[in-house]
Amino acid sequence: MMIRPILKYGASLLHAPAQPVAGITSAIERLIDDMIETMYAAPGVGLAAPQVGEPLRMFVVDVSAGRDPKGLVVMINPEFVERSGMQLEEEGCLSVPGFNATVVRPSHVVIRGLDRDGAEHQHEGNGLLARAFQHEMDHLDGMLFVEHLRGVKREMIIRKIKKLTRAGKW
Ligand SMILES: [Zn+2]
Repeated sequence: MMIRPILKYGASLLHAPAQPVAGITSAIERLIDDMIETMYAAPGVGLAAPQVGEPLRMFVVDVSAGRDPKGLVVMINPEFVERSGMQLEEEGCLSVPGFNATVVRPSHVVIRGLDRDGAEHQHEGNGLLARAFQHEMDHLDGMLFVEHLRGVKREMIIRKIKKLTRAGKW
């Protein structure tokens, strides 16, 4: 297993839709292991393949951050089955380090996809888990949480990132 560098806001792969995974090859299995290792090391509660430079529709989530052995979810080619309710919570992203903002999202989701053995499975999430699933699904469509923000807050974050980029600190 290997900890991979995490791309940051502005890297083109993060702003483009990812491609479906064609099959669970040994390379995909290695990538899953690397993503899990990278997520826990960060530390973070979710990581999508585009964040480590692989434009593929897969992500890992563990809102227990490794404390619950059953907390780890691996999702390959996921899709939404259900989305309902509303929550307003602070959110951040390993690809946008140092920035947090309140994002409005549905409070309940059901997603369906393949696990690492290629078997179809379905996961229900409420609260933080629902938020994590939607945040990672966004990554697969080339969207970051910053793009959910409106007006001043969004412009302030983007302006600060541009400034850090110019200074070579991003
Ligand atoms: Zn993220």
